[in-house]
Amino acid sequence: MNSTCPFFVIGKTVCLSPVRIPFYFSLHQNMFGDIPDTYVALGAPVLAFWLMSLMFYCLDISGWRWLDKYRIHESEEVKSKNLATLWEVARAVIFQNVMQALIGFAWLAEPPVISVARCQSEMEGLGRTLVLVVRGLFGEETGMKILEQWGPGMTHWLYWWVIPAAQIFFAMWVSFKIWLDLPLMSLPRFTVDTWQYFIHRLMHTNQYLYRKVHSVHHKLYVPYALGALYNHPFEALLMDTLGVIIAEQVTHLSVRQTIFFLVYGMCKGVDDHCGYNFPFDPFQLISRSNSDYHDIHHQVCPFTTTCPRKQYLGGVQAVGIKSNFSQPHFIHWDVLLGTRMTREDIQKRGQKVKTT
Ligand SMILES: [Zn+2]
Ligand SMILES: [Zn+2]
Repeated sequence: MNSTCPFFVIGKTVCLSPVRIPFYFSLHQNMFGDIPDTYVALGAPVLAFWLMSLMFYCLDISGWRWLDKYRIHESEEVKSKNLATLWEVARAVIFQNVMQALIGFAWLAEPPVISVARCQSEMEGLGRTLVLVVRGLFGEETGMKILEQWGPGMTHWLYWWVIPAAQIFFAMWVSFKIWLDLPLMSLPRFTVDTWQYFIHRLMHTNQYLYRKVHSVHHKLYVPYALGALYNHPFEALLMDTLGVIIAEQVTHLSVRQTIFFLVYGMCKGVDDHCGYNFPFDPFQLISRSNSDYHDIHHQVCPFTTTCPRKQYLGGVQAVGIKSNFSQPHFIHWDVLLGTRMTREDIQKRGQKVKTT
């Protein structure tokens, strides 16, 4: 224990040495000069989306042969199979960007004043909770020994690393394409974490919702980066905007955490539709829900005699349209509920169809 704090637990409060600010945190009120963090939260995801889409677009039109082994589809397939033109996709994306920026502008609150004193006070509050928990778990004597030895370090790590990371992880779990199926709504344990998976699934099982809303996104049989946000405006509002708002509210993300959460989610969404299967893509290494996984959901069958499932979309036979609903982070709902489809499954089912 240092000289300013002879003991960690002092009566009903705790004593913490002066706050050590980790490298990722800025004590300035705004991260970027005079631009308020709230504006960065609105602009950064859009910028990330367009920069990343542009990068993949440049790869698409580069004509570099060395990229062929990483492409999930031939470039020609994009032009020949997709029912929406590049311009229609871009126009829908711009509309969605504007709509979400306006909603975000109304929704994001002014962040509180950032100061060392505020961090210190919040850490002391956390320290008091830690004392209660450790004493409750380990008893008075052992608990006090643990607290005096590890208390300050535990408070620091919990405040600066564990809690912020857990909040973002939980927000991803809550919001992204892990939707709530109506029959499962009654089960409390499913009510928070399944927002997007089950709405996505519902859009495929309800004919009306599919025809009127979600079929727009599935005009892209061969996904590409810009198409990540090619959705019906109602779907964009319900799936993405509302999903993010719920996640932010449930997990109490700060504005800066929201920026990270939105930018990461946007980049992951683009990556899932990029049409490449790179061995060195960090987004695809982090999650098993990757571009190949989502491509199966979009894919239509090239040979009508070998399609694994007889599902038709506008006269075209679909392959994984009733599978792989999870995106972009976790695939556990697909695994748990039996809606996961792999390339091996497609091959096996194709062979079965051939032999019958
Ligand atoms: Zn879908
Ligand atoms: Zn998609």
